[in-house]
Amino acid sequence: MENFFGKEIRLGILRGGQLGRMLLQPCMNFGIIPHIMDIDESAPARPYCHQFSCGDAGNYDDVYRFGKGLDAVTLEIEHVNLDALQQLQHDGVNVFPDPTLIEIVQDKGLQKQFYRDRGLPTADFFLVDSVKEWMQTDIAFPVVQKARREGYDGRGVAILNDPQDLGRAIDSPSVIETRVDIKKEISVLVARNQAGQVSTFPAVEMVFHDGVQMLDYLFAPARIPANQGREAVALAERLAREVGLVGLLAVEMFVTADDRILINEIAPRPHNSGHHTIEACRTSQFEQHIRSIFNLPLGSTELIAPAVMVNIVGEPGHSGPVAYIGIEPFLELPGVYIHRYGKKITRPHRKMGHVTVVRDSLDEALEIAQHIKEEVKAISCQSQS
Ligand code: ADP
Repeated sequence: MENFFGKEIRLGILRGGQLGRMLLQPCMNFGIIPHIMDIDESAPARPYCHQFSCGDAGNYDDVYRFGKGLDAVTLEIEHVNLDALQQLQHDGVNVFPDPTLIEIVQDKGLQKQFYRDRGLPTADFFLVDSVKEWMQTDIAFPVVQKARREGYDGRGVAILNDPQDLGRAIDSPSVIETRVDIKKEISVLVARNQAGQVSTFPAVEMVFHDGVQMLDYLFAPARIPANQGREAVALAERLAREVGLVGLLAVEMFVTADDRILINEIAPRPHNSGHHTIEACRTSQFEQHIRSIFNLPLGSTELIAPAVMVNIVGEPGHSGPVAYIGIEPFLELPGVYIHRYGKKITRPHRKMGHVTVVRDSLDEALEIAQHIKEEVKAISCQSQS
């Protein structure tokens, strides 16, 4: 955008969850006026934005009305109405990420086909329209079935070990992937601006909660050999160019037992695997997103110190008005940064906040993070509602 600092810029952000909320900090720093739209009247970003509109990001009219007249529109989640974004773009609103990229990301089938067409490494797969169609094919188990649309945080994913598991299969158009022997799950955040400048954050490692596909710990940097880290970064940069990225892209990858790196999936926005960047890197992922969509020089992604990030998720067995317990003692420790998302209601495994621990070594940070995980909880406490 021409003369960014010479005029007032109004940015629309589709959805106001924790990602939208954290995008508001760099908006404030850069003097951008943020508008948020979310279906939830008490969305986490609402108290801190300039203007809040209640609307459905999947609805054409709501998205179009929201974006019309703004300087730029971006998003915190890819499940949004594409036609409205295309129309806004046609009307002269800057829309980032580009709707053609959002279209690919909304459909895991298109995503996988994109990797295959471009020779980008990914697990082998085929596409099916229904379980019935699938039962007629001769497949080699184990496989991972992924609903093509609307899946996230492990919802819409089923690991099927043998034909008996077909009873658990999801009955919707799906990607059927070969099950990979995963050594590590890593992620690289890459940003690209319109001028073509590309910048990546060092690879991080994600450790997931058993049984529930929620991030337990994030390690920055990833505990992988340096050459593997470079390979992952190079792959993310290649992908950014292949998709013509403008904005931020999270590239989730697997390191396989035989040390290959495969792309799992991408998200064209700030991501849970980049929360540590707020305190641990010279530039946060949220600021980098803002810089990239406004064609500003990208910031340094250098990791200042090792960090471990823990999500605070709703305690199993607790649903209702939230109360956080166990936080205060950790505030006395240097390098511990708490983020409370301001959601009023907790549910089992709902993302309610996160804590980043920045220390001189990853081991030291992990030790504190483990205590945080055990002691900090989001529970329901009706009396505190
Ligand atoms: P979501 O979009 O819901 O996060 P993912 O595609 O990331 O879904 O899959 C969720 C998890 O399932 C991954 O983090 C990984 O642990 C596991 N998984 C996905 N694909 C495979 C695969 N091909 N082989 C083995 N495990 C897989």
